[in-house]
Amino acid sequence: MKKVALIFVLAVILPSLALAWLAVRSLRDQQFVLERQQSLLYQGVTDALAKDITDYLSDQQRDFSTHVQQYLSGQIQQYLSEKKLHIGDGGAEFLHSAGAGFDNHIRKQWPLAEVGFCVSSKEGLLSPSPTSRPEARMFCADHGGFLVNRDIAEVYWNNVANHRAQPVFKSASGINTFQKMPLLETNLFASKAQPRKINPMQQQAVLPVPNELQAESLNFSKVVAADAEFRVLIGDAMDGMLARFVQDKLRLMFWHREPHLEPLEQQTIFGAQLDLARVVEGLKERVKAFEPAYREGIAFAVLDDKAKPVAISSAGFQANWKRPFVATEIGQALPHWEAAVYLTDPGSLARSASTMRLTLGLLIALFVVAIGAGSWLIVSDLNRQLTLARQKTDFVSNVSHELKTPLTSIRMFSEMLAEGRVTGPDKQRSFLNIITAETARLTRLINNVLDFSRMERGEKKYSFASGDLAEVVRETAETFRPHLESNGFRLNCAFPESPQIVNGDRDALAQVVVNLLSNAEKYSNGQKEIELQIERHNQPKPSVEVRVMDRGMGVPRGCEEKIFEQFYRAHDSLNSGIQGSGLGLTLARQIARAHGGDVTCEPRDGGGSCFVLRLPVKPA
Ligand code: ADP
Repeated sequence: MKKVALIFVLAVILPSLALAWLAVRSLRDQQFVLERQQSLLYQGVTDALAKDITDYLSDQQRDFSTHVQQYLSGQIQQYLSEKKLHIGDGGAEFLHSAGAGFDNHIRKQWPLAEVGFCVSSKEGLLSPSPTSRPEARMFCADHGGFLVNRDIAEVYWNNVANHRAQPVFKSASGINTFQKMPLLETNLFASKAQPRKINPMQQQAVLPVPNELQAESLNFSKVVAADAEFRVLIGDAMDGMLARFVQDKLRLMFWHREPHLEPLEQQTIFGAQLDLARVVEGLKERVKAFEPAYREGIAFAVLDDKAKPVAISSAGFQANWKRPFVATEIGQALPHWEAAVYLTDPGSLARSASTMRLTLGLLIALFVVAIGAGSWLIVSDLNRQLTLARQKTDFVSNVSHELKTPLTSIRMFSEMLAEGRVTGPDKQRSFLNIITAETARLTRLINNVLDFSRMERGEKKYSFASGDLAEVVRETAETFRPHLESNGFRLNCAFPESPQIVNGDRDALAQVVVNLLSNAEKYSNGQKEIELQIERHNQPKPSVEVRVMDRGMGVPRGCEEKIFEQFYRAHDSLNSGIQGSGLGLTLARQIARAHGGDVTCEPRDGGGSCFVLRLPVKPA
């Protein structure tokens, strides 16, 4: 048993406890796991929003290019009609006049334009005229030197990769041309990383817990500016956008070079500085229409380079703008602007984590309890089976012994009688009585064993019939009396006058009474007195009780129910010296229950035991 229990503990309980411990440990990481899941989800939202805004600007850039093309074709028509269908001097005169009027034209035709500009490699800035209006003057002051390639400026532009891939050459004449100008790469990318204005709660890091270096790098913007000349930036591309910070204010510009003009004329660039307020209006529309499916539990916003919200998904939403849940930088088009997601209820994550912890904790507890209860059931069942196996072994040796004892006496006395060694008739009668009693004992034992095995197989049959229980008990007692009295017992019977009619099998009921009387005899040590009573009860239901009482050693406390289990013996043969099979009471109870009654054991005042056979009375 100990070995089985040890194997059980090692194979089932210890691994289960280890699993439970691991599960409990993982509970602590629930909030982190949830945050990680949410951050991955919402990072997708901010990435998509950032891309949506970039797409919006690209659309606007294409729109601008179309306007430039339309403007130029209109200008060509007009020029040709005025100049009698001829463009002289390689178009320089035409471009001069077209370029000069571009600021006025584009502002009227394209609402996003704040200032239109045209810069020629030969003639410098053709438009706007610095004297035309204050915005134009300011534009020339801010960008004039940069656009005519006099100054190097810190610029963000959106085609870094393309640009780096394209070789640039210096023209032999040394003319200030927009095409193929060599500059040292180091000159071009003399840029420095800037710290991010916002600090998202969830950083987009590869590792769940970024190390110090990664954490540090996450606080810097990925969008970096380069110090470069205008001609170097645009290379031989046909259009693009670029951004500058002038006096800490963002200036966003689109530019376009008309591909259908001759190579020399390609060196005239048309561009526009965007009205940022109008761009923001457009962004607001985009944010409003962006992914309604993702709005539950979050609000998203576009933050400018000062971390101020310029477009918010839900009107009136307020938050610590510098601490979004996740954010993505929009990129070179709007440098240091970010698409950010905020949780509308920041406590909800902690709450769902604790609900999940609680649920998982309860499940683990349930699992541990189930394993504990299951183990207990298995061990106790094992214990029971082992006890039963031991009892069966005891039973075999007890029954063999019980068979052997009467057989020995029968053989001894019958041999003595047969050999004529017993002379007096009294002695002969006494020997014959012993042989009869021992035969009866053998019969009882064999009947019990046979009945038990029949009951076990479900083959025991009863022949029920109405009859007087008192009569059955009286007859059985009288049959048993000589045996008892010959062993020094006194049997006192108290039976009612009236018949006690029950529906039963006479032989089976007689067997119950014999078993009870036989036990009273076996377990009586000093005082050899047995009471046999029959009582009638009308409450709670009409029933009749047969009580068999002795003044013997009594049933040990706590065994009052166990003694009815098969093979169970409260007084085993070794300690008490009393032979038995452990089946007598089991059979008695099974027979009584088959009759709708029961056999119980009750304590008896003054010592000894009291066994009660209770049967329902058959209604008259
Ligand atoms: P057994 O063959 O051992 O008597 P039983 O099923 O008749 O088997 O009885 C089961 C156990 O109940 C006995 O071993 C004994 O310990 C206890 N018992 C039965 N009758 C009495 C009694 N009258 N007084 C004390 N103990 C009894």
